[in-house]
Amino acid sequence: AGPGDPGMLTLRGLECLQRADVIIHDKLVSPRVLEFAPAAAQRIAVDSLHERHTERWPLVQQMMIDLARQGKTVVRLKGGDPFIFGRGGEEAEALRQEGISYEVVPGITAALAAAACADIPLTHRFCASGVAFVTGHENPTKPESSVDWSALARFPGTLVIYMGMARLELIAKVLLEHGKPADTPAAIIQTASLGSQLARTTTLDKLDAMVRAEGLIPPAIVIIGPVVDFRPVQSWFERRPLFGQRVLVTRPRDQAAEMIHKLELLGANVFQLPVVEVRDPPDWSPVDDAIRRLHEYDWLVFTSVNGVQRFIQRLLDNGFDLRAFGRIKLASIGPGTAGALRHFNLKADVVPASFRSEDLVGVLKDKVKGHRILLARADRGRELLREELAAIAKVDQVAVYSQVDVICDQPELLLMLSRGEIAYVTLTSSNIARAFLNVLDETARLRIHNGSAKLVSISPVTSATIRELSFPIAAEATEHTADGVIQALLKLTAQGRQSLGPSE
Ligand code: SAH
Repeated sequence: AGPGDPGMLTLRGLECLQRADVIIHDKLVSPRVLEFAPAAAQRIAVDSLHERHTERWPLVQQMMIDLARQGKTVVRLKGGDPFIFGRGGEEAEALRQEGISYEVVPGITAALAAAACADIPLTHRFCASGVAFVTGHENPTKPESSVDWSALARFPGTLVIYMGMARLELIAKVLLEHGKPADTPAAIIQTASLGSQLARTTTLDKLDAMVRAEGLIPPAIVIIGPVVDFRPVQSWFERRPLFGQRVLVTRPRDQAAEMIHKLELLGANVFQLPVVEVRDPPDWSPVDDAIRRLHEYDWLVFTSVNGVQRFIQRLLDNGFDLRAFGRIKLASIGPGTAGALRHFNLKADVVPASFRSEDLVGVLKDKVKGHRILLARADRGRELLREELAAIAKVDQVAVYSQVDVICDQPELLLMLSRGEIAYVTLTSSNIARAFLNVLDETARLRIHNGSAKLVSISPVTSATIRELSFPIAAEATEHTADGVIQALLKLTAQGRQSLGPSE
């Protein structure tokens, strides 16, 4: 599964996940990686460190064997690389003995991700011609320890310690006792490759004190050796514009992926709290009827990406294809919606630049007098468009989806908000803004009012809703799309940095 960032899964790993009937995964594997598997695939979370034994094999291995014998394609998904501190060797052995065929897919192990994302080369022509991956799990002072720390103290390369946080004080002590210089550079990288990554450097003698002072916790990788000195003040990873910023994305789950990905590429530490959900409309029959009579309309008007996707999907599900659109003219409320049409190789005839119903009415007014218009939209929202168009044309409106508020099942995220641990909240529609602001408790409200959590709005309409509910807006997107929101966020953080002064 790689170190955590889903982008660091290998292509082969992805292929395997996409073909899996069953995935047996370690509990700590990122849920984002599991999303690559088909929805229908069975997911079984296991804890291989604390597992029980069946008669012959440990439980997890027996499970793999049984499922394989049922003819299932099984993926055993482990963090990092399966053959580095992952017991992959033992599991492969069990399969071999039972005559079950398998393949091993290498993964990006934590050491490699930590080194890359902290900008520390693990080997270097001038000072490290080797690298050792060592477990810090065993007590280094016990005689039965299988790690030869005295040899490692003399090893003329880079030491990388996995699972070492609990015993770091002892490990450093033993290395020093065996002659490793006290001023050997050392680094700790916590949650490498993720938006929450924390990397700190020091020297071997101060390693443990630093962990305590900075409150560093597992999972973390420790790198010891002169190569640590090659780390710049900030790594490439940490220099990205939104690095370290906690951003809350409140879009519906199935629409959030792209926005989250873009934010993460900019370095943000993204949290997801969907507050509305898109569902099928309560009744498809008006939509189906309109689709059958599509040729009778002159205009088809869309006011959201969802509207486009749902309408066209329904049309395809009903056995039609794009020819059903015939000569009908297409209007979209803004660039985002027009983009959704383009995705289906359809070009919007009318796209106001601004994203507001008022402006769509404005551009349509002269074009649609006396025409028949079909409006495909959500079952709630502003009625302005229908009302204004109905004054000059014949308008039918159908609900192609329903937007409902979801009950928040992530109290820990609301708690983070109350504690002031979320810096930015993105609000990408009026409904979303209303649903989000309604779930907040008093302290979280206060955080927004005193500016420790900042609201970023997608458009003037959304901003108006936010103001109606008496909340301040930190930034509003110039282009009323998810990308526009990200741009506004970038501007806002850049301003924040500037106001901190030149030393930042
Ligand atoms: N097979 C895994 C290692 C499992 S052992 C691999 O190849 O990476 C678990 C240890 O891996 C943790 O204690 C920690 O030291 C390290 N680790 C895993 N993910 C990490 C991450 N994202 N950042 C830092 N260390 C990580």
